[in-house]
Amino acid sequence: SQSQILQQEKMASIGQLAAGVAHEINNPMGFITSNLGTLARYQQKLFEYQQTLENFLDEAGNEAIKQRAFEQRKKLKIDYLRDDIDDLLSESKEGAERVRDIVQNLKGFSRVDQAEYANVDLNDCLDKTLSIAANEIKYKAQVEKDYGALPLISCFPQQLNQVFLNLLVNAAQAIEGKGVICISTHDLGEWVQIDITDNGSGIPAENLEKIFEPFFTTKEVGKGTGLGMSISYEIIQKHGGDIQVASEVGQGTTFSITLPVIGKGESNG
Ligand code: ADP
Ligand code: MG
Repeated sequence: SQSQILQQEKMASIGQLAAGVAHEINNPMGFITSNLGTLARYQQKLFEYQQTLENFLDEAGNEAIKQRAFEQRKKLKIDYLRDDIDDLLSESKEGAERVRDIVQNLKGFSRVDQAEYANVDLNDCLDKTLSIAANEIKYKAQVEKDYGALPLISCFPQQLNQVFLNLLVNAAQAIEGKGVICISTHDLGEWVQIDITDNGSGIPAENLEKIFEPFFTTKEVGKGTGLGMSISYEIIQKHGGDIQVASEVGQGTTFSITLPVIGKGESNG
C-alpha cells in the first residue's frame, strides 16, 4: 500500500502540473483559433479580388498584358496556392480543435472548471453522454442498454459525464469494423454500479496496470493522448468510488465503476 500511496501522490502532482499547463495553453489557443477563422475570411476576399482583376483584364482586351499576368500567375503557382491554402487552413483548424480537446481533458484534473454539485440519475447522465458521443460511436458500434432503476447520486455530474465519454470513446476506438457496446447499471443499495462493455480488441495483461497512467496510450500519434483513463480514475477517486477493468485480448473489455450514493465530494469541498 506504500507504493500505492506513492503512485497516487505521483499521479496527483502530475495532474496538478497538467492542469496548470492546460490553463496556460488555453489563452494562446483562443487567439490561434479565432485568427484562423479571420484568416479564412481574408483569403476568401483576396481570391475574390484576384478573380475580379482577371475579369477586368479580360474586358480590357489587351492580350500582351493578359499574357504577362497569366505567366506571373503560373510562375508564382497561384492556382496551387489557392487549393493548398484551403487545406492548410482546415488542417490547422482541426489541429486547434484537437488541442482544445486535450486541454479540456487536462483541465479535468483541476477543480477550477468544475460545475455544480448535484443529485442526479446516472442513467440520464449516460443518455446525455451517449448523445454527445453519437457521432463517434454510430459507425463503430450498436449500443445496448440495460439500465436498472437508480437512486439519485450526489456528485459532480459534469465530471462523471466526462468519465462516461472517455470510456465510450475508448470502447468505440477499440472496435475494428462494427461491434457492440453494452451499458448496464445496477442499484447495489448504498452503491451504484455502471458497467461499460465492448467486444473490441481487448487489453493485453501487461498493459492493464498502465492504462490509468497519464500519457499511456497505444494509439497512434494524434489519435490518443493517454489522458482519458487517468483523468477518469482521478474523478472516480474524488467521488469516493472505484473503477475496475476486466479484459481479454480478442474478446473485449469491461470497465466497472462503483459510486457511493451519498457522495463525498460535498464535504470535501
Ligand atoms: P487514449 O484513448 O488517448 O489512448 P486513454 O487513457 O483513454 O488514452 O486509454 C489508455 C489506453 O488504454 C488506450 O490507448 C488503450 O490501449 C487502452 N484502452 C482503454 N480502453 C480500452 C478499451 N475499451 N479497449 C481496449 N483498449 C483500451
Ligand atoms: Mg481515450
